[in-house]
Amino acid sequence: MVFVVFLWKDKTKMGATDQLNLDFGDKFNILPDKEKWEIISHYLISQDPDSSRDLWLGQLKPVSLGGEKFIFNVSANFTKEWIEKHYLALLEETAQRFTGHPVKIEINVVPPEQLRERKKPKKKRKPSFGLSLNENYTFENFVVGQSNRLAYATAKDVAERPGRRNYNPLFIHGGVGLGKTHLIQAVGNAILSNTEMEVVYMPAEFFTFDYVESLKNGQMSLFRDRYRRIDVWLLDDIQFIADKERTTEEFFHTFNALYETGKQIIICSDRPPEELAPLHPRVISRLKNGPVMSIAPPDLELRLAILQKKAEQENFNLSPEILLYVAREIKSNIRDLEGALAKLMAWSSINNAQLTLPIAEELLVDYIGRRHREITIDDVLKTVCKYFNISPRVLKGKRRDRKVSLPRQICMYLCRELTSAPVTDIARALGKTHPAVISNYNKIKEELARDTELAKLVQKITSKLLPG
Ligand code: ADP
Ligand code: MG
Repeated sequence: MVFVVFLWKDKTKMGATDQLNLDFGDKFNILPDKEKWEIISHYLISQDPDSSRDLWLGQLKPVSLGGEKFIFNVSANFTKEWIEKHYLALLEETAQRFTGHPVKIEINVVPPEQLRERKKPKKKRKPSFGLSLNENYTFENFVVGQSNRLAYATAKDVAERPGRRNYNPLFIHGGVGLGKTHLIQAVGNAILSNTEMEVVYMPAEFFTFDYVESLKNGQMSLFRDRYRRIDVWLLDDIQFIADKERTTEEFFHTFNALYETGKQIIICSDRPPEELAPLHPRVISRLKNGPVMSIAPPDLELRLAILQKKAEQENFNLSPEILLYVAREIKSNIRDLEGALAKLMAWSSINNAQLTLPIAEELLVDYIGRRHREITIDDVLKTVCKYFNISPRVLKGKRRDRKVSLPRQICMYLCRELTSAPVTDIARALGKTHPAVISNYNKIKEELARDTELAKLVQKITSKLLPG
């Protein structure tokens, strides 16, 4: 509970600025690199969830994120250039906001073989061009529920026997952060490990860029050769295909060439095929030749199962009530569930303390939003009295036995912690003096640090004040 004080006090001190390191203060810098990157990248992606930002940032492998320089590896020159062109300034600015000091970003290209060798001696195949696949995006790591069952089952079928006519193309659509990229890459990962097929994964932006560059450099026949050699084409975020006739025309040719030769095509999109405005109706009708699968937002059961699985994978111990709280409140998408979990884990690893529900609520304000209503002194008074089964009149009175003095002290403590009322108002409302409120508040605060029973009690009352 001491930590609650630390967090809440910090917030009021810093006012309404949206400085990102608020939740971590100076402690952000002592997080392990992996967690730093999780926090920063989740933040950046959440700022523009409708873009392909997640796919590009996902290519960055953190090497060292200490001091004034953050170093990342990527597996291809193209990726380095793209990220530098589109995201460098943003990355530097965000890193500065989290760390509190200027940060330079350095991106190095490390050939995939080298990346692989250091991690795993086992030989693993990689796509020959396009972007690299996230090794964690596998079918095993995909939690199945009602909202994604059909898409999952179809993707699995395709992975087992790619290229069958009535499964071509596979079109998966759904809102942001619901698992489309995970699923499409799971197909890629499975085919790479089970077959010798040429798997290529790319966001539609990559295709556009590749086409425009090849055209500019007079390398269209190389471009066509490259694409015609693909056995399994994974095209992500097709809604970002450039709204230019020549690009969509080339897409159509590529699509047809692969389709006609029985190569598997899988396409993801944030909307159904008929809403892909830049594409010609004949292209759209082709996209609907095979199964069109949608992924819906996860229900509570699935959200709980995903959180549980991810916490387990990270060896992170979350109490059932926090788990339920997060799963219940974060409804819209799975990426936000992961972001929330990453934040809770980072907090625990910095503070080396047991996470409580009030802390979790405070930490997840940016995901869940502030409570609808300010908590008032009267709310605290009523809740405390109800909990201890004493009347407000007695609590405000003169009795000094522990049966009354403890609820009174807790009431003062919570009034200071949970309401924005000044001490003078708290003192007046409880019929006590200003110094009495301060000293009782300090007393409880100190005791909370030592007395876990008391901490549990206070937490319980707090959770009654914060609707869940
Ligand atoms: P989309 O491409 O639909 O925007 P992603 O595939 O990028 O969403 O998913 C966002 C995050 O949520 C990823 O880290 C992914 O691993 C995770 N995720 C999505 N669905 C599931 C699921 N069913 N089981 C486990 N993790 C999931
Ligand atoms: Mg995606």
